Amino acid sequence: MLEEIVEPLIEWYRRDHRILPWRERRDPYEIWVSEIMLQQTRVEAVKPFFERFTRALPDIRALAQCGEEELLKLWEGLGYYNRVRNMQKAAKQVMENFGGELPADYEKLRSLPGIGNYTAGAIASIAYEIPVPAVDGNVLRVISRLTEDDSDIMKQSTKTRVEKELLAVMPEGRSGEFNQALMELGAMICVPNGTAKCGECPLAKFCLAREHGTVMELPVKKKAKERRLEDRTVLIILDGEHLAIRRRPARGLLAGMFEFPNYDGHLSREEVLELLKGYGLMPLQIRELENARHIFSHVEWKMCGYAVRIAALEENRKQDLIFVDVDSAQEKYPMPAAFAAYARYMNLRLGQEKYEKR
Ligand code: SF4
Repeated sequence: MLEEIVEPLIEWYRRDHRILPWRERRDPYEIWVSEIMLQQTRVEAVKPFFERFTRALPDIRALAQCGEEELLKLWEGLGYYNRVRNMQKAAKQVMENFGGELPADYEKLRSLPGIGNYTAGAIASIAYEIPVPAVDGNVLRVISRLTEDDSDIMKQSTKTRVEKELLAVMPEGRSGEFNQALMELGAMICVPNGTAKCGECPLAKFCLAREHGTVMELPVKKKAKERRLEDRTVLIILDGEHLAIRRRPARGLLAGMFEFPNYDGHLSREEVLELLKGYGLMPLQIRELENARHIFSHVEWKMCGYAVRIAALEENRKQDLIFVDVDSAQEKYPMPAAFAAYARYMNLRLGQEKYEKR
């Protein structure tokens, strides 16, 4: 049956696909950047990040040579910072081993840090017309419904089987279009959460789930493990002009990023005072801020916060804190969007927010 969907799907795609900046030029580097960004964020949200990133780092050489803080700053707001670190590692390998060009070879692409089957398939097929599939969540959803397959799409064995099935029907010379058409159908028509637009679907007449009324039950996706909940207390410590930030450890969650000082648990005002004493800081005023939360892939932070006003921050320079003015915190120091709610308190804006009109 999958053979039958190829022509109507490509025809639909040619007619109806969205114009996306990274699709127009079929540049392997741009496809790579966009695919990594799209793993974590919606298309509309990715556009401004993609444009800024490729303007600042227009090619693999620029990515390979970029300083760490600038790189993380460009990624700020997208999260999953290891992905951009891996991209830089891969860029360095491409400079060393492949003359600065992403290789037109699926296995060689797969060998690069951070590039798995899906990303290698997307680059190989879209940029180089290599007949390999690119199976992501959108594609798995479409195929599960079309074939009314109730295998768990979180399982590697399901992905591998779907890759094989698609490889067998990959149209010669049009693999890029075919893969993009499947992704686009999943993103625009065969969407999740009970809102599939079967009435507008170019594959409706082939679709077994539609025929048997099982669209709502597919795909089968076993629930991921529950996130761990962590309570944290965030301190915005500032004098008239400066605020305190510190660097996170080089390993683990948000490695190497800058952050407001924050601590395990929800601390009381008295506990915060004690902690500040440890830094040799004497607060003039402590004010409670509103609670906030941030969801990472495996953990959720439930944060409370305090704004702490200090007379002269720099005289108390001590331990791991560094004191910077708000403008350089915004422009120079990569800070995770997890702190956005507290950053706003000082008109400091993080990630995409800082480019938006006030
Ligand atoms: S008919 Fe509906 S369920 Fe089937 S592929 Fe199209 S949108 Fe998805």
